[in-house]
Amino acid sequence: MNLPDLKEARKRTNKLVFEKKVDYQFPEAFRGKKYFLKTYGCQMNMHDSEEIRKNLELLGCKETSVLENSDVVVLNTCAIRENAHDKVFGYLGRCKHLKREKPELLIAIGGCMSQEENVVKEIKEKHPYVDIVFGTHNISMLPHYLIAQLKKKEQDIEVYSMEGDVYENIKYSRDSKISAWVNIMYGCDKFCTYCIVPYTRGKQRSRKLEKIVAEVEELKNNGYKEVTLLGQNVNAYGKDLEYGYDFKDLLESVAKTDIPRIRFVTSHPWDFTDEMICVISKYDNVMPYIHLPLQSGSDTILKKMGRRYTKEEYITLFKKIKEKIPECSITTDIIVGFPNETEEEFLETLEVVNTCQFDSAFTFIYSPREGTPASLIKDSISKEVKEERLQRLNRLINHYSLEKNKALEGKIVPVLILGNNEKDKSKIYGYTDTMKLININGSKELIGQIVPVKIQEAKSFSLDGIMVKESEMV
Ligand code: SF4
Repeated sequence: MNLPDLKEARKRTNKLVFEKKVDYQFPEAFRGKKYFLKTYGCQMNMHDSEEIRKNLELLGCKETSVLENSDVVVLNTCAIRENAHDKVFGYLGRCKHLKREKPELLIAIGGCMSQEENVVKEIKEKHPYVDIVFGTHNISMLPHYLIAQLKKKEQDIEVYSMEGDVYENIKYSRDSKISAWVNIMYGCDKFCTYCIVPYTRGKQRSRKLEKIVAEVEELKNNGYKEVTLLGQNVNAYGKDLEYGYDFKDLLESVAKTDIPRIRFVTSHPWDFTDEMICVISKYDNVMPYIHLPLQSGSDTILKKMGRRYTKEEYITLFKKIKEKIPECSITTDIIVGFPNETEEEFLETLEVVNTCQFDSAFTFIYSPREGTPASLIKDSISKEVKEERLQRLNRLINHYSLEKNKALEGKIVPVLILGNNEKDKSKIYGYTDTMKLININGSKELIGQIVPVKIQEAKSFSLDGIMVKESEMV
């Protein structure tokens, strides 16, 4: 048994990060069994679930979308906000009920929540029916833990609080055959005061440039049309390596593979350089879309958050991007109700929204995460005030989203078709180069192709369009 320890998770040493290999030598001990995998949270978690899925398939399991039909349940959890935590424990109630009917059912919990001391304590004390708890550093060990459960029947907690390693032979069972996630780095060293990620995912560890490029080449050769380069702070890529290359060099090398579309998330304004903007504008296959978290428009709050930039610095960067890449769409993240945020400080955030007029935004009420410095601040702002501010912010964000989308009506844009519209089977959906969701009438033969689409109607969160001839595209 290995329990998480937040103090250990916070440590950063000069220890060199070594590349390690995943051990895929295990029997198909679960042949014929069914697994149910539920993923919470961000793109990083979704990509981790692609690794979990591959591991379960190598064990001989087949996926089911019905919890009640499963023999193995894996919940890949998120720790970023309190409601994700509540959702997981709510879902565990269903699993507990199912285990009463099917005592041989195996239940495993992984992901960021598993890295939290208080969560593991709660599972140990109140949820003894959970068989395995594993963390973000040892996803590749899940098959071994499951096999061990076939013999021993006690709860197995295997969570490591450490800086972490880099694995280079990970196998994935990817969600899509068109668009793929590619990890370029793991962990984060920024330690924003509200964020649990540097504790749950360890130290920043960048993969070597040539390994990332090789993965993109392979994806391209296998027919993939798009890659999204993933990291908690992609702009800091390479800072932990001794090779002298950084994110602009990586982006340029990936662009030269000629894969049709390249995206990246998430950016941090503090590490975003002019050279990176130049590379994005130089290559047609680097999409004109940047997710640039603002978090707050108040310098006082930004300082308390440990974000390392001011409102002015953010706006200057925003304007530089727009100047160099006028068509670039920029989205953001904003937290309202950081402890003791005043009305004036909140109004400063609205001011920045009015200045930048984001294409869209993920907006949240601040959620204290145990173990982070911000969670120790005594807060005087009521829940009602925070909710009211969130509504005001959302109204403004939605106003600009609709305005931006309306400006596209009548235009012809390239769209990568990703699949059938879930609700209306006569339609297919895809994304514009600027990352706008668009639904069109069209045949599923187009899935996987980049096609010209004329935008007919704009809504706040999506567009409707029709396919046009290639020659109509300017
Ligand atoms: S940059 Fe800040 S918010 Fe983003 S993962 Fe790192 S600590 Fe969290």
